[in-house]
Amino acid sequence: MSSEAGEIAAGTVAERFKELYGAEPDGVWAAPGRVNLIGEHTDYNDGFVMPFALPHTAVAAVSRRADGVLRLHSSDVEGGVVELDVDALEPESDRNWTAYPAGVVWALRAAGHEVTGADVHLTSTVPAGAGLSSSAALEVVIAFALNDLYELDLKGWQLARLCQRAENVYVGAPVGIMDQTASACCTAGHALFLDTRDLSQRQIPFDLAAEGMRLLVVDTQVKHEHSTGEYGKRRAGCEKGAALLGVDALRDVPYAELDAALARLGDEEEVRRLVRHVVTEDERVERVVALLESGETRAIGPVLTEGHASLRDDFRISCPELDLVVDTALSAGALGARMTGGGFGGSAIVLADVADVDTITKAVEEAFAAAGFTAPRVFEAVPSAGAAGGVRLGADWSALPAQRSRAGLTAVQFDVVAGDLDDDRPEQVGVAQLGCPARVNGSRSR
Ligand code: ADP
Ligand code: MG
Repeated sequence: MSSEAGEIAAGTVAERFKELYGAEPDGVWAAPGRVNLIGEHTDYNDGFVMPFALPHTAVAAVSRRADGVLRLHSSDVEGGVVELDVDALEPESDRNWTAYPAGVVWALRAAGHEVTGADVHLTSTVPAGAGLSSSAALEVVIAFALNDLYELDLKGWQLARLCQRAENVYVGAPVGIMDQTASACCTAGHALFLDTRDLSQRQIPFDLAAEGMRLLVVDTQVKHEHSTGEYGKRRAGCEKGAALLGVDALRDVPYAELDAALARLGDEEEVRRLVRHVVTEDERVERVVALLESGETRAIGPVLTEGHASLRDDFRISCPELDLVVDTALSAGALGARMTGGGFGGSAIVLADVADVDTITKAVEEAFAAAGFTAPRVFEAVPSAGAAGGVRLGADWSALPAQRSRAGLTAVQFDVVAGDLDDDRPEQVGVAQLGCPARVNGSRSR
């Protein structure tokens, strides 16, 4: 097993920026990738998700420009600096990586924020296309940078909404709100319980190391393609299910009434399977929240495994590689395992006692070799801080990691927000006020 997060020194990113653009950047920002602990394909059904941030991070050195020019460079992509005109940004006009950062500029401007250009150099340790949200890390790091540089004073959850809009409209990928919110709002040592309907959120303590457990991420190296095909079909099927059941979104189908709802779907077998996954998955998120909050961390293992069965059998978005990780890890002593992310490849997560980590890792690697699959990448996921930065010119560039964790601590004080992006004054709700949504029985109505 390797620690793949790597450390990106802010100073290195700033130096490369200077080589490219001939001047020091105004600052350096960071935003992480994420793993979703539980709550898969619930986000576009107005349901619950529970991601946590990875130590894997996109880091961007950025300077403000006043002349309408946007220059973009990634050290992870060949092709040099790409220069764009902010006035000419058009949704779905760009099929390259630059669509993600340019989309954020477009979304900010479309929302009325006067962003007049930027020079950007970035690099990332979030593996692309592995289901760990490298795209959201990219969007969020740019959004945080522009928010600071243009003094927009937007909150993390508001920036997340704009990044989602960038990806939905500018890039043209119909993703939910989870990835961007996770990258923007997660805090170290916690998973983020997010209600994707009203964006209220709660930080749930998730410190596995303290309890002698580890969470492994197994990247199958099988690439998924989010913006096309199967994802869109599942999403359309969920919308059809909601329409047939007469609800705004599948989140409104109470768990206690699931059987009756399924019966009403008649011969719509495929829709029935999708509905069953979404409704049971929301209930699993609530169960995991309740278990973690009552200190029964080990007991979340079987809930994760149940989630995998539902994704494999009902939602049908697993693949042989993901199933092999889950089956092998469980046979080798894992407490629980499931695929995570959009599906059809990407990564699985495995919850295990520390003592079993090496055995499980070896078993998975051997099983992949025996099956003739590409060797998986296995690494430990430590719940890490969300986006941060703004190290300024003249500052000690080596200070970024500390800056990032300080921002994580600050964010804890704002750990529940609710409201709409269009609101002038988003509602700030105290943790105690929000409370935990009622568990199961469909009583989580609002
Ligand atoms: P995921 O978000 O699960 O990693 P996506 O398909 O949503 O997968 O996003 C991956 C895309 O994001 C890449 O194809 C690339 O366009 C862009 N991307 C991710 N990381 C980088 C990077 N370091 N530099 C440039 N583009 C990147
Ligand atoms: Mg993505």
